[in-house]
Amino acid sequence: MCRHLGYLGPARSVGDVLTAGTSSLMQQSWAPRDMRGGGTVNADGFGAAWWTDGGVGHYRNPMPIWTDPAVTDTLTSVRSTAVLAAIRSATVGMPVDRSACAPFVAGTFAFSHNGVVTGWPHSLAALAADVPTVDLLRLAAPTDAAALWTVLQHRLGRQEPGEALAGLVRDVDAAAPGSRLNLLLSDGRTLWATAVHHAFSVRVDGESAVVASEPTDDDPSWRAVPDRSIVTAAVGALEVTPLDR
Ligand code: GLN
Repeated sequence: MCRHLGYLGPARSVGDVLTAGTSSLMQQSWAPRDMRGGGTVNADGFGAAWWTDGGVGHYRNPMPIWTDPAVTDTLTSVRSTAVLAAIRSATVGMPVDRSACAPFVAGTFAFSHNGVVTGWPHSLAALAADVPTVDLLRLAAPTDAAALWTVLQHRLGRQEPGEALAGLVRDVDAAAPGSRLNLLLSDGRTLWATAVHHAFSVRVDGESAVVASEPTDDDPSWRAVPDRSIVTAAVGALEVTPLDR
């Protein structure tokens, strides 16, 4: 069921974000602690996006993260105050390909989906009908995650990011009941996330904000997010609200 993580805080290397902690994303690729029955390992690639003055940097590889030396050499030289990273466990029937690895990036935004949309693709057809055909033809990959990203991008042009993400999750939850919908979106300043039918934790203080599918270490300041929640996190600011109003 994939794992993802968002970091905001003092500048760190992307390699450090991927590998720091006794249960880092690197460790979670072969030994995740809380997959909630959705798979066993996350070996179908990984990716990271980071924000700089020059825009959003992006690196993805469809191989297991532990096989890529760039994680501990090249990516340790890339520093940022904002990183969104993901490791992938491809849903059955979906391709193992670089184009299908999160995060997906466009403009100032990066996005990841940790979960599965039940009944895909049929269950998303009505939601996708609002998206211009040309944008559907540009689908990043034939996966549920890429389809969610395409619909979300369309809504980001019309709504504030937190509102767009929460609205999308509510609509998909209604159209595809039982879906696992942990979504993570950032513009490098704020992290917007949802926890639906899957594990999610946060650690926010005056220095940094970290949100993750599961804690990356045993620090007691991690807080588990209740199921069916919407999360908005920034340095020194955390809001967790119920999805169901
Ligand atoms: N279903 C998505 C994919 O296959 C997300 C992966 C996951 O969480 N298992 O890309």
